[in-house]
Amino acid sequence: MQIPFNKPFIPWFSFRHLIGGALSGTIAGNGRYTKKCHAFFESRFGFKKVLMTTSCSDALEMAAILCSIEPGDEVIMPSFTFMSTANAFLLRGAKVVFADTLQDVPNIDPAEIEKLITAKTKAIVVVHYSGVACEMDRIMDIANRNGLFVVEDAAHAIDSFYNGKPLGSIGHFGTFSFHETKNIISGEGGLLMVNAREFAKRAEIIWEKGTNRAAFYRGEIDKYGWVDIGSSYLPSDAVAAFLYTQIQRFDQIQTRRKKVWWNYARLLKPLEEKGFLKCPVIPDFATVNGNIFYITLQSGEIRDELLKYLKTHDVSALFHYLPLHTSPYFSDKHDGRALPNTDRFSDTILRLPFYNSLTRRQQKYIVDKVSKFFAG
Ligand SMILES: *Cc1c(COP(=O)(O)O)cnc(C)c1O
Repeated sequence: MQIPFNKPFIPWFSFRHLIGGALSGTIAGNGRYTKKCHAFFESRFGFKKVLMTTSCSDALEMAAILCSIEPGDEVIMPSFTFMSTANAFLLRGAKVVFADTLQDVPNIDPAEIEKLITAKTKAIVVVHYSGVACEMDRIMDIANRNGLFVVEDAAHAIDSFYNGKPLGSIGHFGTFSFHETKNIISGEGGLLMVNAREFAKRAEIIWEKGTNRAAFYRGEIDKYGWVDIGSSYLPSDAVAAFLYTQIQRFDQIQTRRKKVWWNYARLLKPLEEKGFLKCPVIPDFATVNGNIFYITLQSGEIRDELLKYLKTHDVSALFHYLPLHTSPYFSDKHDGRALPNTDRFSDTILRLPFYNSLTRRQQKYIVDKVSKFFAG
């Protein structure tokens, strides 16, 4: 049995809205389906202002512009993340300062953030790895005491919560991804949450290439023009039409994904109890949103051997982030601090196949193989 790492959920009816949208005669950005998607995210999660984007990377770039990042400003973020988190701020000339993760959860350590703050620090970016919340009360407190922006890279974290608050809605800005490897998908796609009301208007202008066209379409002004910097961050309405099918099945998708997650947790528990591996730690304030399932092995060698072993049994497991502070692009820009927890998570994390249609039988097969690896 061949088990891929990911299998995007693309039912045939995904194309119904796409075709309907195209036949309506207009599929440029900010159309009918974009508005439907905006309405869903605002009502379902109480997000104040959302804007669909072409990717989470783009939403992060918008957040960096909205934080008014200028050359020389310092931005603190984890090294254990996707490069888009850093790129968005580097593109504005920021100095990226990487912080280590916690010991037991691969999320940024608030105590490390506090140590790295200088007079030049302007923003903190947090990543809710695998949809598990960072310690947001502590992080917001640090930010408020120092007058800093907080951006939540919530690419993994749709429908996940911190003490009951939806992730992405706590910092000044939040960003989601609808890349085909995430919970709900449009191939490529993303969403920016603007939680600080005073930035809503500017966000819409940056989204529309630096023009006030959105306000013009609403009839608030009688002509539109170029009023700020910006780019074409809004997706085609075809992307929104595709996403709309996923939104209509949001609860179904999420119920299914959470089942897959908890089933792995249950099946792997005996191996965890024997000390062979660790399942994800979910703090009391956090929730599981069925984004990915990762295990942590005792060493990098064991992780790499297990990856190989699973591959020979047709199971596509994967490692995850290579630390950004030691990457070919950044290593000579990093200040040399060791980030031991980041390095350890990078060496020892293994992600198991995870998708909506993964069956219990397949999950049992995968865990049996993991078990056989340790028996052998
Ligand atoms: C997937 C991901 C992104 C990028 O999302 P895109 O929509 O592909 O741009 C950014 N940050 C994190 C943490 C991600 O996992």
